[in-house]
Amino acid sequence: MNDESQKEKLRQHFARRVTTQARVVLDTWQKIHADHSLAATHRDELAVAADKLIRYAQRFEMDSHSRAGEHIQDVLADWPAGDVPAEAIWPRLQEAMDGLCRCTLRRTDQAGEDAPHQYRRTPIYIALDNGEMANRLIRQLEFFGFRASAFSDANELTEACALHKPETVLMDVNFGGAPNAGIATIERLQERHDTPIPIIFMSDEDGSIETRLRASRCGGEEFFFPAVDPGQLIEKIETYTHGNTVEPYKVLVLDDSRAQAKYMETVLRKAGMTAHIITDPMQIIHALDEFSPEIIILDMYMPGCTGMEIARVIRQQDRFHSVPIIYLSAEEDVTKQLHAMSLGGDDFLTKPIDPKHLIATIHNRGRRARSLLALMIRDSLTGLYNHTHTLHLLDQEIVRARQKDQPLCFAMIDIDYFKKVNDTFGHPIGDRILRSLSMFLKQRLRKTDHIGRYGGEEFAIILPNTRVSDARNVLNDIRERFSELQQPAGDREFNVTFSCGVADWQGETSQALCERADRALYASKAEGRNCVTPAD
Ligand code: GH3
Ligand code: MG
Ligand code: MG
Repeated sequence: MNDESQKEKLRQHFARRVTTQARVVLDTWQKIHADHSLAATHRDELAVAADKLIRYAQRFEMDSHSRAGEHIQDVLADWPAGDVPAEAIWPRLQEAMDGLCRCTLRRTDQAGEDAPHQYRRTPIYIALDNGEMANRLIRQLEFFGFRASAFSDANELTEACALHKPETVLMDVNFGGAPNAGIATIERLQERHDTPIPIIFMSDEDGSIETRLRASRCGGEEFFFPAVDPGQLIEKIETYTHGNTVEPYKVLVLDDSRAQAKYMETVLRKAGMTAHIITDPMQIIHALDEFSPEIIILDMYMPGCTGMEIARVIRQQDRFHSVPIIYLSAEEDVTKQLHAMSLGGDDFLTKPIDPKHLIATIHNRGRRARSLLALMIRDSLTGLYNHTHTLHLLDQEIVRARQKDQPLCFAMIDIDYFKKVNDTFGHPIGDRILRSLSMFLKQRLRKTDHIGRYGGEEFAIILPNTRVSDARNVLNDIRERFSELQQPAGDREFNVTFSCGVADWQGETSQALCERADRALYASKAEGRNCVTPAD
């Protein structure tokens, strides 16, 4: 290893130490925030953690972290040890923590590191008359990486929304006591925003059609009656916050005219799509492998071959059997167009292309293709990849790891005593646990990791470019946090744990790798469960 890469490795090593310490600070804050009555007890712990963060960050020259640590210390200076903090301390502390989150997240994004996200950047606001319920929700949401705040006053909520637009607001229909007062607050609040904030309304009584209409008109996405349990709510919140981010469509364009291809690229990029352009038909196989398009646009006439011939070759590969193919040509002869479609095309666009028409066609085809694909590769209960697709992804990642000479890990997770959960609380609660673990994994793992539902209560995780020691730490952290999560069942709560086995790829087949991870999982079960075991 040369000097530079040695240094870089060291730098990364130390960077991790700082981010780990940042996590300690945030965890301590979470404890304080979750239960204000414990604030005085944990104040010193927070001070010590922040102090350590500053020292590490200064030593390893991570300025943003040391500044964030100093900001926390400044606030703590106004909070004497052993005292209950003054009311004004809370928002200041929150702000300081937000600052720390931001630098933690930014570093994570840049370095593609494995530190799980502590908080989302955008908060969730809760305005419920039942304060106890609100606090319980906040605690639960925090476990999933959401940052939530409760409000007991309509004006404060409105101000907070103006200052920091939330991801969603959870609102009592009769917030403050008067009938429909909550809806009225939201109506006023929405006027101050160009795009409405999605609102989840909760009601103690079944709303009349007038009430429900009014709620829906001011941005009410949901109307819950009777009050739902936290598990259900978190699932909803998760769908709003996750479902809103639509990944850009990946479009492959093959056109022998460079000018036409460039034009298409510009139009697609402007519409927020990811475009990959080739002008040589002989590059098609390579482009399919490298780019994995979701939609393919083919010029009809090119030197050497036609678009129809290319379509046939594409369709011969199982993976691209259902990817929409759109032909592009000056051909106006309908008979010829129909013939082209019969050879595996889905649509026909005539040059010159109207950009609006092109984008609309891609959107329609893309949306449909995605929902079909989801049926094929995703598990319907959790939305995670199904068994077959997980193994397919593992094969792909093995190829990539070999090419790039990078490490790769595979982990298997199995919920402990799950049969007992079903037997005690019923199958629907069991299903809820499966969804809750899947959301938990999605929140805490990197975007580049693949998560699959391997079987009943078994999950598989593929961690590209990750060493086994890192994978183990991340999984252990997830295990610990998941085990602390209070699983609601009616008015009771209980905890669930899982066991995990993790194996690093040693050049073997995917099947052999799975077997090693499975043996390690079995060892975890034999050890007494609720632990992570690396394969030998
Ligand atoms: P261990 O700690 O050894 O893993 O014990 P366990 O009870 O978790 O393992 P076991 O394999 O004996 O039981 C798995 C249970 O998972 C049995 C089955 O009813 C339940 N299960 C499998 N798929 C689903 C599902 O989709 N929903 C629900 N609710 N339960 C499921
Ligand atoms: Mg099992
Ligand atoms: Mg089990």
